[in-house]
Amino acid sequence: MDAANYKNQIFKTDDLSIELKCHGDTEYTKVSYPVKYGLFSRLETRDYIFEFNLNHDLRHAKSKRKAWIHPSEWLKRTLGNDWVYYSTGGYSGVYEALGEYYLPNLMYPTNSLLGGKPFKEKEIGQIVKNWHQIIGQLPDAGLSDPVCQWVCAIKQQTPEGLHKKAQKLFEISGSRVTVMPPDARHVDYNIIPLNISDGCLYKCRFCKVKNKKSFSVRSEQDIDHQIKQLKQLYGKDLINFNALFLGEHDALNAPCELILDTVHKACHAFHFESSYMKENYLFMFGSVGSFLAADKTLFETLNRMPFQTFINIGLESYDQATLDLLGKPLTVKKVGEAFEKIQIINDTFPHIEISCNFVMDDTLSDSHYEAAMTLIRESVNRTNPKGCVYLSPLKFGSPSRQVLYDFYKLKSLSRFPTFLYIIQRL
Ligand code: SF4
Repeated sequence: MDAANYKNQIFKTDDLSIELKCHGDTEYTKVSYPVKYGLFSRLETRDYIFEFNLNHDLRHAKSKRKAWIHPSEWLKRTLGNDWVYYSTGGYSGVYEALGEYYLPNLMYPTNSLLGGKPFKEKEIGQIVKNWHQIIGQLPDAGLSDPVCQWVCAIKQQTPEGLHKKAQKLFEISGSRVTVMPPDARHVDYNIIPLNISDGCLYKCRFCKVKNKKSFSVRSEQDIDHQIKQLKQLYGKDLINFNALFLGEHDALNAPCELILDTVHKACHAFHFESSYMKENYLFMFGSVGSFLAADKTLFETLNRMPFQTFINIGLESYDQATLDLLGKPLTVKKVGEAFEKIQIINDTFPHIEISCNFVMDDTLSDSHYEAAMTLIRESVNRTNPKGCVYLSPLKFGSPSRQVLYDFYKLKSLSRFPTFLYIIQRL
């Protein structure tokens, strides 16, 4: 499918504006005003603005009424059928904390330290609950043919149908993505999830996103089947995607050939070379064990592929007592070696960025923070623009001023880009 085939069409009455095949930005950017990406269609009524993807599924919504919190804020409906409210946070501190200008507010408990309770706002609740009824009131008569067909198509995408679509997405890989890599923020979490493995190596006691599956690798047939089904499910909207997430929690522990073959196949099957969005992105998680074991060939080959690759490694702590407390079966020696290798990979390969995570909590000892500092400050003698360090609050649903204060303190001392990790599902 070629973006040139998508000719923009506009239909307007006093109460209504419908714009079919809008051409949004082609590149993900970090700016302090709302940017719409990809090809989509927009419906504007007196009170609301709704945007739909190329499968006619609702993807963004906002109210134009006074009661809406801020004119630059909006709701996004994810592929997993969650609503996310993007708030500016008054623009103060959000970028410093997250590396993004907008704060995603989620409907489910997570470890975010920022934001209020936007889903308690009447105007937001009204859209979340009634968007389909609002669309249902659109006239069927008096519209030109393509507009009439489009209105009919968006009315058919009911909340029940979208719920089923999300269930189908989870069924394809066998489970829901319970946590997306923090680096997926670079594509506003618009990823195609493809599982090449299940489970993880460590089953750490502290972790709230793990499952019971021991680590295993998917067969080639299984991966091919997922690709085929994902292609069908993403349908016409595939042209808007340029990012692949290889799941599950430790895809880096899969054999090197399987990783590379899958990336190659998926890139081809999902037509990333002709995506409307510029550049291609690859995201995955790795563990200290899989990262240390990963051969140089893997990184050399990934670096040559037409992707910007981000691999996120959970280090959690450089303090043995804290690792033991977290139930993370690792030694500080291994964590230190992994951190050192992260710097080598980041310095060597321009198209690969390895990021890492450390946990934060007000119950953790000073030695945890002091030890983290020896890595993120003392191990290098100047500021490094690459190799994000994410600090991940341990507790869910428990924003703490103290933890936020600790975060800003660590960030100010860190010599790497340092941000908070908000655990988000797909
Ligand atoms: S932190 Fe990573 S390795 Fe540990 S249990 Fe969670 S997913 Fe598994």
